[in-house]
Amino acid sequence: MRDLRTLRSLSRQRLSGIAVPQPFDLEAFAAGVGEKLGRTIEIRDLPDDPRLSAVSGAWLSTNRAEIIHLEAGTSGWHRDLIALHEFGHLLSNHPSDPDWDREQLARHFPGLSPAALDRTRFRHAQDGYSDEEEQEAEMIASVILDRADIGPPPDVLDSGGLLSRLAEALRHPLRDV
Ligand SMILES: [Zn+2]
Repeated sequence: MRDLRTLRSLSRQRLSGIAVPQPFDLEAFAAGVGEKLGRTIEIRDLPDDPRLSAVSGAWLSTNRAEIIHLEAGTSGWHRDLIALHEFGHLLSNHPSDPDWDREQLARHFPGLSPAALDRTRFRHAQDGYSDEEEQEAEMIASVILDRADIGPPPDVLDSGGLLSRLAEALRHPLRDV
C-alpha cells in the first residue's frame, strides 16, 4: 500500500489542469474534466433496479462517453462526494470491477450495444471495498473537496456505511500530509 503522502501527490498530478470551482459545482467540474480528457462526461441517476440497491454511485466508461451514475434522490454534499469518488476512478484510469461481468452490465445498462460493451468499464461504490484503487479514488475526492473548501456535514460522520467511511478518510490523514 502506498503511503498517504505519495498517494496525495499522485492525486494532485492527476488533477493538474482541472479547475475546481468555488463554490463547488459538480456539473462545472465535470465539464472541466471532459475538457482536459477530451471526452464527453455525463452525470445521470443510477438505473432504478433492485439489484443495484446497495450501490451509491458508478462510473461507466464507454466508447462514447464517461458516465457518472449517482443514486437517485441524493443531493448536496452526499451527491458531490459519491460523484467525486467515481471521478477518482475515472482520473486514475482504473480497470473495471472484477466482480462485474459483461452480462450484468448488459442487464443494467440495456442501452449499450455489444460493441460498446466490449470497451465498457464499470466501477461501483458500495461498502466493503478497501483496496488500493479505492484508496486512490478517495484521495482524489479528498483533494478536490479540500480545494473546493467543502467539508462533510457532521451528521454524515456518524451515519455508518460508505459515506461515513469516506467522510472519515477525508477528515483525518490529509490536512498535514
Ligand atoms: Zn470506488
